[in-house]
Amino acid sequence: MDNTNWILKKVSGCTYFEFIDAPYTMKFSVGADQERCVKIYSPTFLKQIHSATIIDLDEDDSRIGDGLLTRDLKKTMGIKVADCLPVYMYNNTAMCIIHCGWRGILGGIARKARRIMRTYRYVLGACIGPECYEVKQDVTGRFTEEYPAAVKEHDGCYFLDLKKAVIQDLGQAALIADLDLCTKCHPEFFFSYRRGDREKRNYAIMSRT
Ligand SMILES: [Zn+2]
Repeated sequence: MDNTNWILKKVSGCTYFEFIDAPYTMKFSVGADQERCVKIYSPTFLKQIHSATIIDLDEDDSRIGDGLLTRDLKKTMGIKVADCLPVYMYNNTAMCIIHCGWRGILGGIARKARRIMRTYRYVLGACIGPECYEVKQDVTGRFTEEYPAAVKEHDGCYFLDLKKAVIQDLGQAALIADLDLCTKCHPEFFFSYRRGDREKRNYAIMSRT
């Protein structure tokens, strides 16, 4: 795995992090430029509800859920996140993008994506880092049972590592790249719910190159 392969790019006045694993392109858009990115790339977005529902764009007209899948490689898919983790998955015939917060992970969205994709590689975008993601005990309890490596205790407070949980579900071997920046610690790049952004979201966009 190579942490350095996400590259900060500026194209047509639009700034974003980009990772290319040909023929697929993953983007994670940066702050104020994202509306411009959406105009240029026009991704399909969902009404996200922190569920484990993955919408098959080729068969399902519903646009409510937290994951998108297509075998039509002309399509562009998007997920909106504030501190949650966007995960980009792909194989020779399909691509899938999922929204992983603590609810979605416990609901099994990553395991479901793994079953659907069967063989795949995957890339992690940026999310809130484990040092910044303190969670309450009701959340901690279930993670301690199901994803013990994702929970850290510090002075009686509990912190959650979303990436560790997703890697447990999807496997370390298939992980190709990780945009290893905390959304809360990097206001120059990202919106962050925990930092106070209530409306604005970071856009994760996936397409075939
Ligand atoms: Zn942080």
